[in-house]
Amino acid sequence: MIPGARLIILGRQGAGKGTQCVRLSRHFVVPHISTGDMLRAAVREGTELGMLAKEIMDEGGLVGDEIMIGLVEERLTESDARRRGFILDGFPRTTEQAKALDEITADRPIDVVLDLNVPREIVLERISARRVCHDCGTNYTSSGVDPDPWICDVCGGDVLQRADDTPESVKSRLDLYEEQTFPLIDYYADKRQLAVVNGIGHPDAVFDRLVKAVEANRN
Ligand code: ADP
Repeated sequence: MIPGARLIILGRQGAGKGTQCVRLSRHFVVPHISTGDMLRAAVREGTELGMLAKEIMDEGGLVGDEIMIGLVEERLTESDARRRGFILDGFPRTTEQAKALDEITADRPIDVVLDLNVPREIVLERISARRVCHDCGTNYTSSGVDPDPWICDVCGGDVLQRADDTPESVKSRLDLYEEQTFPLIDYYADKRQLAVVNGIGHPDAVFDRLVKAVEANRN
């Protein structure tokens, strides 16, 4: 396997993007760039961006395109991303963001856009059981009877339900995904950059499918 890849991953909330991105990032030796994680870090640090984003995120809305494009452009110019590539998770989420990304990556285009496909009914079940480490972002699944306090195996942080994983916020985020991000599937299909990958099944099996889709499309 030759390291390096320039990837985008699309998929509904709860499709398993976070889990698979950690593995893809190790496999292809590229940074996992998650705009959700970047915004949550800004919230924790209490920066100006964090204060603005917190309100929007808790309501399940989308942070403005201009802010998000600036944030991603800055991250993609860092040397790790320039040298090895990246896996972009959570961006682009709107056609406006996708067009801006085409310009940002004009000199080194995206290899493949992975659409991790899981139906709405299934992600709703997954998200209600989702728990996340507050410090490092590792995902866990609640069994209904959880340790209290629940301590992260990876970093010792607190494992909690995300503030925006309430049923109302999840519904609003899924609606927004269907409205704003579904059009990107056609956008990338038209550009012949799209690979649809079935996200149902054991995480190892899903990972194998994703790697095969990348290998088949990597330049
Ligand atoms: P989810 O996909 O479950 O909504 P993420 O961790 O990807 O979770 O993002 C959390 C929140 O951060 C989103 O609901 C949204 O408010 C904001 N966000 C993340 N990425 C973007 C983006 N590209 N454009 C606008 N808002 C974003």
